[in-house]
Amino acid sequence: MTPQANIVVIGTGGTIAGQGNAASNTAAYRCSVLGIDDVLGAIPQVSALANLRAEQLLQTGSENFDNRHLLAIGTRVAELLEQRDVDGVVIAHGTDTIEETAYFLHLTLKSIKPVVVVGSMRPPSAMSSDAALNLYDAIAVAAHPSSRAIGTLVVANEEIHTARDVVKNNSFKIEAFGSPYGPLGYVIEGRPRYYRHPSRTHTVATPWSIDALDTLPQVDIVYGYGALEAQTVRDIAARGRGIIYVGTGNGNVAAHLIEPLRDAARRGVVVVRASRTGSGIVLHNGAQPDDEYGWLTVEDQIPAKARILLSLALTRTDVAQELQAAFEHY
Ligand code: ASP
Repeated sequence: MTPQANIVVIGTGGTIAGQGNAASNTAAYRCSVLGIDDVLGAIPQVSALANLRAEQLLQTGSENFDNRHLLAIGTRVAELLEQRDVDGVVIAHGTDTIEETAYFLHLTLKSIKPVVVVGSMRPPSAMSSDAALNLYDAIAVAAHPSSRAIGTLVVANEEIHTARDVVKNNSFKIEAFGSPYGPLGYVIEGRPRYYRHPSRTHTVATPWSIDALDTLPQVDIVYGYGALEAQTVRDIAARGRGIIYVGTGNGNVAAHLIEPLRDAARRGVVVVRASRTGSGIVLHNGAQPDDEYGWLTVEDQIPAKARILLSLALTRTDVAQELQAAFEHY
């Protein structure tokens, strides 16, 4: 018999730690009220999957997470992964920003041990809650050797997604998570089955280590529309080191917003064109003459992930070509 893996489950709050007044409260309930011990205690079946240790790191909805929360989660996960008697980590997390935390970990952890981020769309108290099965599956994935060296994973609704691609794309349904190129695999009856692996660089092969990060530069996201005022763009551009401009379609920019964004670039603010569509590529020098304007473009990264990536890239370089290369590589 193979010895069981040692898995640490970190609680951070979210719906998976939520509670409603009645089982029929699938969408109206209090978030982040149950401790991780209680959440795990309600699923005794997990003890057959791994030796478990639980710790409460945060207790809040993930909509509240700022860069300090990301750094705190990353730092703690890295400390745990360094311990010889820890084989993997599961992070119970609000679903709203799982895609950002997971991508941040995917780019900054320096370990091949499995890290799985998991949430639920319904609290444990609700009818047909997905909390127990999602957490059970996440632990099964973290404990399995086939999950090593493939970066940070997100488990939801019996699917295993790579942190790079996964997006929350529905506000209330159980099947709220998707990846534009499909999941990496499924988890069924406590066993992961993989059908593909991430092709982009991650974890041990990236230049960013959580151990070397104390802060992240301010990068803001501006959602573009025709009635957006030039002054609003100027105001936001004056605040941080970078702007993800979420243009329509292929990152299109309304004519009256071109000058404020060119101006920002001239002043050294990194301007990156992204797309409102939720998927697809923004072609560099396609809809706009990016090189002439001093702008960058995402490749296929959604704005929230582009913000994480640009924040990290700016910790090491200001050179436009190197920043642009980050979008092609990660
Ligand atoms: N607001 C919650 C959160 O992201 C929603 C959830 O967990 O599903 O923390």
